[in-house]
Amino acid sequence: MSDSFTVTARDGAARAGVLHTAHGEVRTPAFMPVGTKATVKSVDPDELRALGADIVLGNAYHLHFRPGEELVAELGGLHAFMGWDGAILTDSGGFQVFSLRDTLLATDDDGVTFRSVYDGSPERFTPELAARVQELLGSDIAMCLDICSPADVSRAELEEAVRRTTAWAERQRDLTRAPGQLRFAITQGGLDAELRRRSSEELVALDFDGYAIGGLSVGEHREPMFEATTGAAALLPEEKPRYFMGIGDPEGVLEVIARGVDMFDCVLPTRTARTGSALTREGRLNLRNARFARDDRPLDEGCACPACSRFSRAYVRHLVNQQEILGLRLLSLHNLRFLLDLVAAARRAIERGEFLSWKDEALRRAKGAND
Ligand SMILES: [Zn+2]
Repeated sequence: MSDSFTVTARDGAARAGVLHTAHGEVRTPAFMPVGTKATVKSVDPDELRALGADIVLGNAYHLHFRPGEELVAELGGLHAFMGWDGAILTDSGGFQVFSLRDTLLATDDDGVTFRSVYDGSPERFTPELAARVQELLGSDIAMCLDICSPADVSRAELEEAVRRTTAWAERQRDLTRAPGQLRFAITQGGLDAELRRRSSEELVALDFDGYAIGGLSVGEHREPMFEATTGAAALLPEEKPRYFMGIGDPEGVLEVIARGVDMFDCVLPTRTARTGSALTREGRLNLRNARFARDDRPLDEGCACPACSRFSRAYVRHLVNQQEILGLRLLSLHNLRFLLDLVAAARRAIERGEFLSWKDEALRRAKGAND
């Protein structure tokens, strides 16, 4: 199964490649738009395809509670249900269960008990249930249920999370899968180099189709996080895809690509859109700012998205200020296109062997405008 991923170019630690899934090829580095509840907020699947997305993310936690994996399976699986024929990665729900700490009731070796965010009722997730939910959803990549610790836990708690994450991964490895479904394990260990090594070695020995670096980007400072990423990525097999969970700002994306990460996801493009902001090569623009009132330029010169090809900053600002739905949609389309374009450009720079100089120039340009 290790031949599902091919590295096609290397530049330092950065790589370009292709991940073969049951629903097509995913060019890496790959940014995965987040469609938590079987929709990338306000964006039609045809538009996602046109923006350049090969793969989107769904979430087992949310889809388990609403509308339920049995219902999705009855309607033909997640691809048919949401009208997306490209690749889908489903998160296991581990992040949701463990990051919403006020809903967490108890964790034991068998699983975790928590209150559902939907109705507060006590619910239980086990590795077996997480695998079953994702099998029924029919995603192309299923993630193992893991224990994602917040940045401020004690070392003893972190060690316990690493131990259980491995034990749970072992239980999930050979469970039934959807046809062609790949299964990724998630390394834990926070910023602790020794625990990260232990987690990685134990999971690599179990031979999964790919590996995620989990438990980073959970509230720690950026420099130590990037440093930990360098170490964490280097512990993973060269021939398997590496996924950094939960990073999507332009700087973060480029820094993790530089460290050998192939895939990442974040709600940032659509969340930023909801705050009325646009990601651009010159940094972030807050369209609520009065200086855009008469600005007839597109959000980002050189962007070919549906917003930039037809509308001015002044018009998008007007829509945002009037809370018009089109404003949110245009900013979502633009922000997704911006990140997908950025990652495609990173891929080309890796292929040319110029990734580091290209990255430094891109970051310098983005910072210049924000000063
Ligand atoms: Zn645009």
